[in-house]
Amino acid sequence: MAKNLPRYLPFARKYRPKNFKELVGQEILTKTLSYCINNQKLAGAILLTGIRGVGKTSSARIIANTINCTSLLNDSSNNALPCGTCQNCESFSKNNHPDVIEIDAASRTGVDDVREIIESSEYRPLIGKYKIFVIDEVHMLSKSAFNALLKLIEEPPAHVVFIFATTEVQKIPLTVLSRCQRYDLRRLTFEEILTLLKNIAKIENLKFEEEALKIIALKSEGSARDATVILDQASSYIYNTEQNDIIDSKSVNKMLGLVQTITILRLIKLIIAGNTRESIKLLEEIYMNSSNLEYFIQQISDFLASLVKEKAIPNFHDPLHKNYNTEITDILVGMSLSRLSILWQIFNNGANEIKSSHNELVTAQMLIIKAIYSCNLPKIEHILDASSQIIELDPSKNSFFEEDDLPENTNNIFNFLKFCHQEKEIELYYILLNEVEVKNFTSPLIEIVVSTKIIQEKHLKSLLHKWSGIEWNIIISQQENINSLKKTLLEKVKNSEDFSVIKNNFPNADISDIILKS
Ligand SMILES: [Zn+2]
Repeated sequence: MAKNLPRYLPFARKYRPKNFKELVGQEILTKTLSYCINNQKLAGAILLTGIRGVGKTSSARIIANTINCTSLLNDSSNNALPCGTCQNCESFSKNNHPDVIEIDAASRTGVDDVREIIESSEYRPLIGKYKIFVIDEVHMLSKSAFNALLKLIEEPPAHVVFIFATTEVQKIPLTVLSRCQRYDLRRLTFEEILTLLKNIAKIENLKFEEEALKIIALKSEGSARDATVILDQASSYIYNTEQNDIIDSKSVNKMLGLVQTITILRLIKLIIAGNTRESIKLLEEIYMNSSNLEYFIQQISDFLASLVKEKAIPNFHDPLHKNYNTEITDILVGMSLSRLSILWQIFNNGANEIKSSHNELVTAQMLIIKAIYSCNLPKIEHILDASSQIIELDPSKNSFFEEDDLPENTNNIFNFLKFCHQEKEIELYYILLNEVEVKNFTSPLIEIVVSTKIIQEKHLKSLLHKWSGIEWNIIISQQENINSLKKTLLEKVKNSEDFSVIKNNFPNADISDIILKS
């Protein structure tokens, strides 16, 4: 009964590339090997390395098929293509080619397994030109197994070709590595994966929203196999679970345990607006919808990373967020690069905190509160730069300094200092901030205490006049120990709650100077 039904072929197998032309993204391998095959310059040992799902096993199979085909074809790009009809190709497509021996080193790691290979390599191929040993996950072989193999790889009989595949090339002994022709298979780009998904969807007559395929492409992280598997899963999911016939972003997000981009945007906006109550409410809704909070925090982190890139790189636009350009521009206009970077850092670290937390909802809530708090910190453009430890403070705009930070009779000195900075009167600015104690600054009287340095009284007087439009009286006295403005401000800042938040995120942060800018 059931055995008469055609077996469902998963997309990953159905759309596995069958020749160099179909192998997307691995141009170096396809061009070089096509040339070698066409010109009889094939190496005895080929090593394929790269992340999972990038096409190592497929490439190994394509190479095996191509080198044994007796009626090779060439396309317009000079790709060597198996004919598909000769005895070798037919036997290969049925998975029973007697001269292609596939070994999984993960299960056969010992020296005895390798001895079998060595013995079998002495016999000539039965139908093909070459006897081909494909050893997958070759890094799993034991040291003695590698040693046993070494001599054979160095001088393989003319009829033997080894194809090794591995995700962990660093675990292969150098003696073996140096005897192989090595190909590093690269991750596919976002666009390559997207094109691949669109092609499959078209052949399978799947209806889809472009954004849904973009989410799959992003989630696959450059692995064609992962992308194909997710698309396959999504096509079944929409029929069975969602009673839907369109692969849309909502279903894909739900299937992958991800939250909709529009919801992430909403939360980020609430955080920036400092709306703690609504942010926490939204988080709880997401939690109640059984979304995975760890993924969610990662998603926020990735979204913020792309905002940082949009801010820092001219004309950079994340293709995944094309539909949200207006919202993103609104955020970017109101946020500095440093604040965005800090937000990213909070959520990036937060993903790990959630993983190890005993209550992920509470941890996520605390992260959001921390994020809201960080948005109210002063500008810290320089704190991200390890070589500089200067924080820019603007006493008129941030919460570092309250009205009572300085005695009322000196509070106004900030405005004058900003004026000095604006006028490029840096020396006077520096002296007033660092070298003297300002006892009183109430128009039209300034009282200053100096330790040694003599202030340029005339110059100060004329600047005060320029600033305020009136004549000032200057009283200067001398004493040994003074409390400079900078000293007072530094102490205040270092004892502040705000700075402790900075310290939590940047443990090595210190404040070595304060610059009041105009
Ligand atoms: Zn053939």
